[in-house]
Amino acid sequence: MSNGILLYAEVTRQGYIHTVFFELANKARELADKLDGAPVMAVLFTKHGMMPDYKEGFTNSGIDKVFVFEDEKFEQYSTETYSNLIVDLVKEIEPDIFLIGATNQGRDLAPRISSALGTGLTADCIDLDINEKGLLAATRPTFGGQLMATILCKTKPQMATVRPKVFKPAYDINYKNTDFVYKLIKPEDFKDRVELVEFIQGIEDIKNELDSAEIIVAGGKGMKGEEGFNLLEEFAELIGGTVGASRGAVDLGYAPHSIQIGQTGKTVTPKLYIACAISGAIQHTVGITGSEHIVCINNDPNAPIFDVSDTGIVADVFEVIPKLIEILKSN
Ligand SMILES: Cc1cc2nc3c(=O)[nH]c(=O)nc-3n(C[C@H](O)[C@H](O)[C@H](O)COP(=O)(O)OP(=O)(O)OC[C@H]3O[C@@H](n4cnc5c(N)ncnc54)[C@H](O)[C@@H]3O)c2cc1C
Repeated sequence: MSNGILLYAEVTRQGYIHTVFFELANKARELADKLDGAPVMAVLFTKHGMMPDYKEGFTNSGIDKVFVFEDEKFEQYSTETYSNLIVDLVKEIEPDIFLIGATNQGRDLAPRISSALGTGLTADCIDLDINEKGLLAATRPTFGGQLMATILCKTKPQMATVRPKVFKPAYDINYKNTDFVYKLIKPEDFKDRVELVEFIQGIEDIKNELDSAEIIVAGGKGMKGEEGFNLLEEFAELIGGTVGASRGAVDLGYAPHSIQIGQTGKTVTPKLYIACAISGAIQHTVGITGSEHIVCINNDPNAPIFDVSDTGIVADVFEVIPKLIEILKSN
């Protein structure tokens, strides 16, 4: 019988549980079914106690048990305190699998925990499964995104960090009678050698419309410059969309890195993704495969972007987009 799957429930600076937790919860339930209904558990650090929306989030996303660490000091994330407490918890409950979102916090926390436990960590995964031997099969891009590697871990817990937005969230689909277990914290557990002097909000944190955009109009190198992107801005505004870019366009300075999509940019899951003059390199498409419908406009019929698109338009983008803008404006 499996000891189950543990998930890290990250609380954001704004005080809500990060959406990547609900995405992990959804996948974890699927993995748990393949492990004969193993329990899915979560670990939470909270200064607010068990807020009603936290509670609802856990029960509605199918979590069997939540280990809660509650203290006012948890207003501020601390690598040292959090990892020490989690390491002790993992030693106590011995989960088979431990999953953490590949957010800034998760990327900081996971390697420290895995090295303290002497176990392996597959970082920045884009898919998870259980193989025929009941082991976690964690998939991530490798060799600069040219290949996908599925990695198995010989030791337990089998740890992985998972990119936000690669799985659908679990809201309201898996109601459970969740058990909440409050863990005792001793004053000596807070022995942090780092003092936070000031928190400066990064531009990426402020401008993250791409994360929640339902329509994305993305431009590539073929947009030829900032003016091409201005055209995309105008089009996007008319259809209620947000502009994104390929790395080809970002590297040439046509668009800022904060809107880059792909392996070294953002992973997006809009309802509609319109790729304009983007060739469709794997490092780009790895960030858009969760889109519901992909449309591409490219003047090269052999461009690989057509292979991942639901609708393809072989045409000059500088003819198609102005025409669409004209039609939208006249309506
Ligand atoms: C480690 C690593 C990480 C990477 N990470 C990323 C990443 O996160 N995101 C990413 O995007 N890339 C990434 N890349 C780069 C990636 O390999 C490609 O080089 C990049 O995606 C190409 O950008 P592009 O499609 O805009 O340019 P190109 O490949 O040059 O394609 C331009 C396309 O525009 C078309 N075109 C030109 N003019 C017109 C026109 N007038 N009308 C219609 N179509 C036209 C052309 O036919 C062509 O298909 C990464 C690469 C590496 C090695």
